[in-house]
Amino acid sequence: MQVFEPATEQMLAELPRAGVDEADEAVARAKAAFPAWKAVTPGDRAKLLRRLARALEERVEELAQLEARNVGKPISDARGEVGSVVDVFDYYAGAPERLLGAQIPVAGGVDVTFREPLGVVGLITPWNFPLPIASWKVGPALAAGNTIVLKPAELTPLTAIELGKLALEAGIPEGVLNVVNGPGRTVGERIVEHPDVAKVAFTGSTEIGRRVGELASQSIKRVTLELGGKSANVVFADADLEQAAELAPLAVFGNAGQDCCARSRILVERSAVDRFLEALERAVKALQVGDPLDDATQMGPLISADHREKVASYVDEDAVAFRGSAPDGPGFWFPPTVLAPASNDDRAAREEIFGPVVAVIPFEDEAEAIRIANDTVYGLSGSIWTRDGARALRVARALETGNLSVNSNSSVRVTTPFGGFKQSGVGRELGPFALEHYTELKNVFISTH
Ligand code: NAD
Ligand code: MN
Repeated sequence: MQVFEPATEQMLAELPRAGVDEADEAVARAKAAFPAWKAVTPGDRAKLLRRLARALEERVEELAQLEARNVGKPISDARGEVGSVVDVFDYYAGAPERLLGAQIPVAGGVDVTFREPLGVVGLITPWNFPLPIASWKVGPALAAGNTIVLKPAELTPLTAIELGKLALEAGIPEGVLNVVNGPGRTVGERIVEHPDVAKVAFTGSTEIGRRVGELASQSIKRVTLELGGKSANVVFADADLEQAAELAPLAVFGNAGQDCCARSRILVERSAVDRFLEALERAVKALQVGDPLDDATQMGPLISADHREKVASYVDEDAVAFRGSAPDGPGFWFPPTVLAPASNDDRAAREEIFGPVVAVIPFEDEAEAIRIANDTVYGLSGSIWTRDGARALRVARALETGNLSVNSNSSVRVTTPFGGFKQSGVGRELGPFALEHYTELKNVFISTH
């Protein structure tokens, strides 16, 4: 299997391509490793996770370079992402010794609930944040005592393979974390259908997520899905407009718009639209688009030629208000593009583009802002900009979305839950609640008669 560098269109690596047989072998190894891994004491499991965090920490720069070259993302972003992966393993290293059950008052005896690991879990990840998203699943899965088959995306498998090697280096036993590099149609589907896989945690498109859910239902597998988004950045006229506009570009053009949390609809109160667009234009034109390996770069290329074609299909030239820059020559470049004024009925405002294209949609009042923001099948993230604290809370409670920021575009923190409402998914990752998705509750009643 060949892996490319989207900024140069050159081949970056050639790897073995797994098929259904290798998927089966990985599941068999994970199954064989499960009893011993489940029996590792909570304290020792915590130590191993900490050692994995340290092993990753020593390799931050190397992993960041690999990710930046393979995904085409700015190196400064990649460094931050790999740093956050270290934090994920440190955080979940705290979990094995804190997986609390319950003791519930009952008649005639003592009742105890335990949190048991599920067994073999299948983890399937997308190409846009390869190592972070793998860590959001691997961290809690290992902490809870499961063994793993991880299938990274075909386009960007390199850092997941390194994660597997580092787990071995850290002393995590062979067979506990298996990485299988292969196509979704064959290896992915086999993992989802395999009778020895207890749970699938999938991150990717809503379309494939639906297929994963269908296949998994055959064996009543546990399923968590982190899917697409079409999030709104809601800007009220009383907000710090300069700041909202200055920060808006990276909230949608970060990772070249290939971000499930991209605020790809900016809803602006009508009386502020002109002032907001002026400030937004300055910010978009100032965005540094270019070589991912340059420290100053803020946006790189798209992942592939096919994807660039798909993104371009959403842009109607007549609807473009302004654009940022993009280099010529090799590389799958696409300039940051602002469509304004747009309507929420436009195709570009309804479908997840997954590229650097944003629709700016005017609204009249708070009620209309909420109606437009919620008028989507998705519900992953979003932002609210206002100086009115009561309004911020009112709107936050009214929006049908899993992750909101007020006067900020931040989406993901290691310690807080992340996931979607509606067709953006099922379940949560990160923070304490993720552990519920990697454990099964067992209740035991002990008679005292
Ligand atoms: P994708 O759905 O095309 O692929 C995701 C993964 O699923 C890949 O590893 C792929 O090989 C595998 N796959 C493909 N077909 C499969 C099948 N039939 N059975 C099992 N596995 C299969 O997604 P992508 O193009 O890699 O990533 C982009 C999408 O991911 C966007 O829609 C984006 O919003 C979403 N995403 C969501 C989150 C989130 O946390 N909600 C985060 C990142 C990306
Ligand atoms: Mn895809």
